[in-house]
Amino acid sequence: MSSLGSEPNPLRVAIIGAGPSGFYAAEALLKSGLTVRVDMFERLPVPFGLVRHGVAPDHPKLKEAIPVYDRIARAPEFRFLGNVTVGRDLPVAELRAAYHAVVFSCGAESDRRLGIPGEDLSGSYTATEFVGWYNGHPDFRDRTFDLDQEVAVIIGQGNVAADVCRILAKTVDELKHTDIAEHALDALAGSRVRDIHVIGRRGPAQAKFTAKELKELGELEDADVLVDPAELVLNPESLAEFEERKGAGAKKNFEILQAFAARARSGRRRRVHFRFLLSPLELQGDRHVERVLLERNRLSGPAFEQSARGTGERVELDAGLVFRSIGYKGTAIEGVPFDARKGIFPTRDGRIVDSTGAVIPGLYASGWIKRGPTGIIGTNRADSVETVASLLADVASLDAGERSGADGLGSLRHGPRVVSYQDWLVIDQAEISRGQRRGKPREKLTRVEEMLAQLTAPQP
Ligand code: NAP
Repeated sequence: MSSLGSEPNPLRVAIIGAGPSGFYAAEALLKSGLTVRVDMFERLPVPFGLVRHGVAPDHPKLKEAIPVYDRIARAPEFRFLGNVTVGRDLPVAELRAAYHAVVFSCGAESDRRLGIPGEDLSGSYTATEFVGWYNGHPDFRDRTFDLDQEVAVIIGQGNVAADVCRILAKTVDELKHTDIAEHALDALAGSRVRDIHVIGRRGPAQAKFTAKELKELGELEDADVLVDPAELVLNPESLAEFEERKGAGAKKNFEILQAFAARARSGRRRRVHFRFLLSPLELQGDRHVERVLLERNRLSGPAFEQSARGTGERVELDAGLVFRSIGYKGTAIEGVPFDARKGIFPTRDGRIVDSTGAVIPGLYASGWIKRGPTGIIGTNRADSVETVASLLADVASLDAGERSGADGLGSLRHGPRVVSYQDWLVIDQAEISRGQRRGKPREKLTRVEEMLAQLTAPQP
């Protein structure tokens, strides 16, 4: 038998998920020096995952990763198979039989829950739904958000909360030349939201925003930022955190918040309030959220390990709109071990392990489904490189028998319309043309049927 990774017996790898971590895994495989064939499966007909459907429309610089992924996708050894849901259209067992290795780079598609009464009242939404909606994700295309409310609360102080806050606080003029979905722009144009409270359970030194994202909230055209100086009093542990290198980002955030607190209110149309040391206890209302009941916290524990402890003091905040932005979770796929508590596939050095901790040969994971929802887009490159290094180290021990790759997948013969990369380029062009007419970089197609219809329509 020819050695695995040679011209007569290429190393065949399936990657599940066409987001950043999937593309970086493909890149590492293509650069490995072995003869490889990489097939990337994606449940949507369109690639790029969170770069397309997660990155905020007013952050076009973060989408500059797309040309890098495009170059990877054009390699002759690479194949994109969109509109295929692994675990539903295509069983994992069938994939394992057709490939030497399978790398799951399927991200974290679901949300963590607060677990408090009233969480599911109408008017209470996850950041995931809102982000997916304004970014034209087909799953969230038909969601509606009650933007008739004047007071909105965002629970959580990470960069997703910052994105949600900016989109709520910006004017239509600030958004209309971005690739924000048209349905969202129309709805936001009629928004009556005036006050946005961004609430952290810990203190100002523990907010998870990156400084750039926090600063940006102070640069909005028609929104004031408000911080109560009384909430910027730090405990000794937080001050100690600033003295360490790993506390530098938090210190920068704190300085930005101090500058916000020193600003005079300028009477702009909207106001962004940063609130600290408050945990939601309950969302209250008769079917619709009317009020958020919060408990004031104090910090407990040593520097960098401080957690929020309730003091028993209650704070009520009247609000008709709530976004829970407290982090993402991965979802299970049948045939792959899943750690439901952490929302990840359990791994060791990128190798998926079973409940006894034993490595399952040929199964790997990279990105958020491996390490959880942390870091920026570029963090996934090193993560995927680590996983692929493990895979390459295993090549000698993998079953070297020849594999069919995608051509041998019976489920796909009678399954969904598989979308190739060439097909995606057709959809891409259609979106760019639609955008040009509106002075936008693109107007995304937001329904799977609309995307597939482009592939049967006569081309101009
Ligand atoms: P995140 O950074 O982990 O922030 C989650 C926030 O939710 C934290 O403030 C956390 O507080 C809070 N939280 C968690 N559980 C809570 C609970 N039960 N009650 C109240 N608050 C709770 O997550 P994220 O904002 O979803 O972002 C995910 C990743 O994507 C991050 O690495 C982020 O930097 C990245 N991202 C980057 C960009 C960008 O570069 N522009 C944009 C979007 C996202 P604690 O700190 O107390 O846990």
